[in-house]
Amino acid sequence: MNTRVGTIGNALPLVAGADPMIDPFGRAVTYLRVSVTDRCDFRCTYCMAENMTFLPKKDLLTLEELDRLCSAFIAKGVRKIRLTGGEPLVRKNIMYLVRQLGQKIGSGLDELTLTTNGSQLARNAEELYDCGVRRINVSLDTLDPDKFRKITRWGDFAKVMEGIDAAQKAGLKVKLNAVALKDFNDAEMPELLRFAHGRGMDLTVIETMPMGEIEEDRTDQYLPLSKLRADLEDQFTLADIDYQTGGPARYVRVEETGGRLGFITPMTHNFCESCNRVRLTCTGTLYMCLGQNDAADLRAALRATEDDALLHAAIDEAITRKPKGHDFIIDRTHNRPAVARHMSVTGG
Ligand code: SAM
Ligand code: SF4
Repeated sequence: MNTRVGTIGNALPLVAGADPMIDPFGRAVTYLRVSVTDRCDFRCTYCMAENMTFLPKKDLLTLEELDRLCSAFIAKGVRKIRLTGGEPLVRKNIMYLVRQLGQKIGSGLDELTLTTNGSQLARNAEELYDCGVRRINVSLDTLDPDKFRKITRWGDFAKVMEGIDAAQKAGLKVKLNAVALKDFNDAEMPELLRFAHGRGMDLTVIETMPMGEIEEDRTDQYLPLSKLRADLEDQFTLADIDYQTGGPARYVRVEETGGRLGFITPMTHNFCESCNRVRLTCTGTLYMCLGQNDAADLRAALRATEDDALLHAAIDEAITRKPKGHDFIIDRTHNRPAVARHMSVTGG
């Protein structure tokens, strides 16, 4: 049932509780991740090469265009939007988009959230809260400032800590995301866990995915989370729980700390059967799966006419192409990634 409750600009209906889009495998698509820029002020070794070539600024959709696209997805049943990147908070004037989208919370949209490296959070936290954001993810792979510099190449650990402090002070619920990296942070996981839970934050660990050319050898970085979990169980009691955030993590309760620990395991456990997500890039390309190359160009439909009917039709057509699952296999002979684009294009 589509219940009209107002309009945005001159055309787009705002809907409360629009029917979700259903893909060919019966999955409801209710979650849109938007990479608002491919640029970043860090160069994490598992994510990017140090000398990245970014998109020319002229190829980017404007923030108004991104707002219109997001609104079209809300009208088509998307209930959760996550802004990501690259680093979303380095996009100029990004708070304009956050504010526009925040106004849709309660009118079709249930939640607006953000994944950030935390570098710009200290100056943005209060405004994020004011715009209606209540939960954010901050990526943090280590608590050691020297290792932090090594893994991010350009990052400043103290600034990220300031950002986390400011976010919590502003009332934002923070979840930490750590990529599990063999011989880098595996031994540090108990400390990271105690830090997160001691500050009332959930922690989610992520397996590295083979996306985009980087300068390192990915097989050197890969740490199966089944191994990490077994190691943690030497020190902690982990109880599976049924907690859901709408994302792909599976959670356990850590008895000793009382906090939650999530595992995102695209490589060892196929998380595709319950996938509710699609990913929009800052040029208007829609990826129906993080781990596949097929995509739909929504920019053409967006720019062809002010009438959203064409855009809605393009979105519907794209959803008919959502594949059953990803295909992350590293080409070990040539050490090539399974997916050529970097994570910063689609934002993880
Ligand atoms: N810059 C922001 C940040 O770092 O949180 C948002 C974008 S970043 C691409 C989103 C998430 O993807 C981060 O948590 C990052 O650690 C993760 N990520 C990046 N490259 C990855 C890879 N190859 N495999 C697994 N996770 C990756
Ligand atoms: Fe930037 Fe995030 Fe990629 Fe690190 S993981 S380089 S912070 S986009």
